[in-house]
Amino acid sequence: MLDEILIKDLECFGYHGVNPEEKTLGHKFLISILMRGDFSKSMETDSCFDTVDYSAVCEEVTALVAGESLDLIETLADRIAHLLLTKYEIVKSVRVEVQKPWAPVRFPMKTVSVTIDRGWHRVYVGVGSNLGDSEKNIREAVAMIGESDRVRNVKLSGLISTKPYGVKDQPEFLNGAVSFETFLQPRELLRFLQDIELKLKRERKEHWGPRTIDLDILFYDDQVITEPDLRIPHPEISKRDFVLKPLCELDQYLIHPVYRKQVSQLLEELQASPAYEKTVE
Ligand code: ADP
Ligand code: MG
Repeated sequence: MLDEILIKDLECFGYHGVNPEEKTLGHKFLISILMRGDFSKSMETDSCFDTVDYSAVCEEVTALVAGESLDLIETLADRIAHLLLTKYEIVKSVRVEVQKPWAPVRFPMKTVSVTIDRGWHRVYVGVGSNLGDSEKNIREAVAMIGESDRVRNVKLSGLISTKPYGVKDQPEFLNGAVSFETFLQPRELLRFLQDIELKLKRERKEHWGPRTIDLDILFYDDQVITEPDLRIPHPEISKRDFVLKPLCELDQYLIHPVYRKQVSQLLEELQASPAYEKTVE
C-alpha cells in the first residue's frame, strides 16, 4: 500500500477550451492532485527532501495551467500527470482531476471535470527482425523506445538467432526482449510501438512472415487484457523458447499472471514437452 499526498482544488488560471473567448479571456480551473509513493523515509528524517514538496508542485502546476493554451481539459490533465511523474522520482502514480467550473455551454451546469490515473508500469516487449540488418533494426527500435519521455530504465536482453516460426520458408530471425518502465496506457503503448514499426518501414504483409521489425507487448505489469486487437500477456509466450529465454535473462523471477508461474519454469516445461520444437541453439 502506497502513501498518498492530496492537493485539493488548487485554483489556477488558464486559457484552455474550444471556444475562442476561452482562449483570449481565460478562466479559472480547479486542480486536484493525488500523488502516491513511499514517503516513509521522510517520516524518519522529517525532511521535505524525502517526500514531495507540495508547495513546489502547486507552483509548477499553476505555471503549467497558465501556459500553452489547449483545447481539452483531458490534454491538460495528461500534461499535469506527465510533469509530476517525470519530475518527482518518488511519485509512482498520480490521479489528476481538472475541473472547469461554469464551463461555457448553454446549459445550467455547475462544473465539468476530467479525472485520469497514470503511473509507472513495468513492461516487457518482444523484439524480432529478419529483414535487412536485423541487429541494427532491433537496436534502432530500442533506441526509439528509450527516446520517449514517457519511458525510463530500458534494458535489452541478449539477441538470439532463431529458425523461422510459422512460415518456415524465410530467413532466420534475430529475437530478444526489452524491459522498461512507462506511464503509457496499454493502448497508447501499442500505438507507440506500431509507430516505431512503421518508422522502421516494417512491411505488414504476411502474418508470421518476414519483417524489418516486430514489437510485441509480452507483459504489462500483471494486467490481463483479452481484446481482439490487444492481448496481454501475449498468447504465444509459453510456446516460444526465443521469447522465454530473453525474458529469463531479464528477470528469471518474472511471473506470468495467467499461468502464475515464473518464466524460468515455463521455459523448463516447454523444453520438457514432447511437442517442443527447438528454435534456439
Ligand atoms: P505477429 O503476431 O506476428 O506479431 P503482427 O505484428 O502483424 O503479427 O500482429 C499485429 C496485430 O496484433 C496488431 O494489429 C495488434 O493489434 C495485435 N496484437 C494483439 N495483441 C498484441 C500484443 N500483445 N502486442 C502487439 N500486438 C498485438
Ligand atoms: Mg507483432
